[in-house]
Amino acid sequence: MQRLTGIGVSPGIVAGRAVILIQREQVLRYHVPASRLDHELERLQASRERARQQLIGIRSGVAERRGPDIASIFDAQLLMLDDPMLVPRAAELVRQQRVNAEWAIQRVFQEFSAVFDEIADPYLRERKGDVADLVGRLKMNLRPGMATPRDALRELDEASVLIADELTPSLVAQIDWTRVRGFATDAGSRTYHSAILARSLEVPAVVGLYDASRVIQPGQLVVIDGSASEVIVDPGEEVLARASGQRDDRTPAAGPAHERRGPAVTADGVQIRLDANIEFPDDLAAARYAGAEGIGLFRSEFLLTSVTPETAAVGGGLGLSEDAQYEIYRGMLEGMAPGPVTVRTFDVDEDQLARPLADGWVADAERAGRQGLRGLRLSLARPELFRVQLRALLRAARHGQLRIMFPFVSGVEQIREGRRMVEEAAAELTRGGHPPARVPIGVMIEIPAAAYTADLIAREVDFFTIGTNDLIQYCLAVDRADARVSDMYEPLHPAVLRMIVMARRAATRARIPVSLCGEMASDPALLTLLVGLGLTDFSMTPAAIPTARKALAEIRAEDFRALARRVVGLPTAQDIQRELDAALDGLVAGKKT
Ligand code: PEP
Ligand code: MG
Repeated sequence: MQRLTGIGVSPGIVAGRAVILIQREQVLRYHVPASRLDHELERLQASRERARQQLIGIRSGVAERRGPDIASIFDAQLLMLDDPMLVPRAAELVRQQRVNAEWAIQRVFQEFSAVFDEIADPYLRERKGDVADLVGRLKMNLRPGMATPRDALRELDEASVLIADELTPSLVAQIDWTRVRGFATDAGSRTYHSAILARSLEVPAVVGLYDASRVIQPGQLVVIDGSASEVIVDPGEEVLARASGQRDDRTPAAGPAHERRGPAVTADGVQIRLDANIEFPDDLAAARYAGAEGIGLFRSEFLLTSVTPETAAVGGGLGLSEDAQYEIYRGMLEGMAPGPVTVRTFDVDEDQLARPLADGWVADAERAGRQGLRGLRLSLARPELFRVQLRALLRAARHGQLRIMFPFVSGVEQIREGRRMVEEAAAELTRGGHPPARVPIGVMIEIPAAAYTADLIAREVDFFTIGTNDLIQYCLAVDRADARVSDMYEPLHPAVLRMIVMARRAATRARIPVSLCGEMASDPALLTLLVGLGLTDFSMTPAAIPTARKALAEIRAEDFRALARRVVGLPTAQDIQRELDAALDGLVAGKKT
């Protein structure tokens, strides 16, 4: 039995067989003695033959499900498998430098990359992703028992727990979550995308474990205890009994249906709006069940990583067609009516766009560039994708209460350009005889520059949504996926609270609605302080809504406004936390007496 400690991000305890998923393997170089050279070369050949069989299998499966166009991606990879510059070149390095096969193959990839990076043609440059995929596969095959991400996902069954080095958004979109009992990742912090997802699915999860994907072997029995922030490998009887005893208790604490409708109300009668953050249209049911008044944030990214045979043929495989998107938006608007649905336009970065399908994973650069060409910036740089999304949205608008929101906005020019594109799409539809309804256009306040210029931005938009997940990380310069600095990611840092107040005030002065959709709102204690800061609209993971409703019913907004006035002047997050804790303890004590 071995215990690994990380950050519990979604409560509950489950046991299952480990499926290991590794995307970014660190390759070590070691010397191979002369007597082992032949063995090393055989490993390399065996890895190639295994890759060939896997690719042939995947190609025929994909051809069946998604048509021959997509399947042809794997023809290219099969051809590369026999390229003299790949495996034979790696074999040459093994022989000449007496190095291990993993390192040799990685080295060959670096040589390839350098060549690809110099190619001006963007199509050819993107083929680097194919090579990266293939090299990833060869490296996985050198570790027996280790699956590639695609194969690992296929191995999942109802008895599985998923152990990954990192769960990237494109991968998350491909997982059949009904088959995952729980998951654990090496990377991550509380606001990591997959952590947010785990909470909404109510799947126990622990992140920030550093090396779980290395320590745990495929098929090993593992207990994931999200409540205790632990992963237990080869658990004893007692731990297993605890896991099996609790499995069925994980039902949402939503309470009776009549208590779940309409706004939440504080003890002194202030109405607080609770909307839901969702990632997939299927989450709508959870949002409604939890009593959300509307969808405050629909992260539309999965529409870019999804693909249907016809869109693959038409758009080179990048995202769903206008009609397919229209159907999805329409379904959500009708499903949530009369509540509003706020669709955030695509918030991906350039690297995530590079290869959204095939294996659904971008071998090298998925996490790089999160401050780069991303969100609205990328939509403006790729107008052909943005236009399709906007047209689909505007067409769907008449089926409910739609709001369009631009992510990752740092300045007014981008907003004007984004709005211009909305107007253009609307004019096109009008010319075609289908004038769309007027749709409110808002922005996420999630970059410090936007918070600082919230007064200027407020004149240009119809609403604000404060995205504290990104705002905190950029305000404090703490990467939210990096476990090493996760304790510096402080929602209560005075700088963060001041930025929230700035955005809230600017919205109030401009008389536009403002809500807050970061994970911060899912924590009932932080939520009470946010109410104290004057916010009355929130959007959160559906599972957090019932608890938020209960917590709000117990506080007086007036008391927390007084508290907020006191704490914004305090120098550290710890000081603020102490005051907040004292206020909440006072509430509990008050109830006891
Ligand atoms: C945010 O940044 O607060 C947010 C809600 O968006 P995401 O977590 O999708 O970046
Ligand atoms: Mg964000």
